[in-house]
Amino acid sequence: MDNTKIAETANRIFTEYLKENKCRRTPERFAILNAIYSINGCFEIEELLKHLEQKEKFRVSRATVYNTVTLLINANLVVHHQFGSVSKYEKCYGSAKTHTICTKCGKVSEVGNLDLTETIASNIKKFHLTHHSLYLYGLCSKCHQTLKRRKARMIKKDIK
Ligand SMILES: [Zn+2]
Repeated sequence: MDNTKIAETANRIFTEYLKENKCRRTPERFAILNAIYSINGCFEIEELLKHLEQKEKFRVSRATVYNTVTLLINANLVVHHQFGSVSKYEKCYGSAKTHTICTKCGKVSEVGNLDLTETIASNIKKFHLTHHSLYLYGLCSKCHQTLKRRKARMIKKDIK
């Protein structure tokens, strides 16, 4: 699915969700949805606020953003990630995401879709899957190299 189609469908889902839950369909809410769907990857609320002000020239209060993001989470259009003490959010319609998280420096990378997640998903019975995300924990290449160098130095010292 291309991004325009994804955003269009996300708008439709959100419209339906707001109607069903008797929430007002304000231009602010849709501007926030569209801003989120134009951002690739995870973002923090502050980054979203900046994006809305600078790129979309749209001024909204922090409360409206929080409120709308909560609605979007409930509508299954946005996911919330907790990385330690940092709260991040991400669009989730039309994408199945696999992330790697470095347990040392906290670097998060998207590695796209792995067959593994598809296999797990297809093996779940009696469950209607709407979206999924998978987290793989380990060390990023930079932290892994640092660790390897440190180990090598320790071995050298032992030999001497
Ligand atoms: Zn790292």
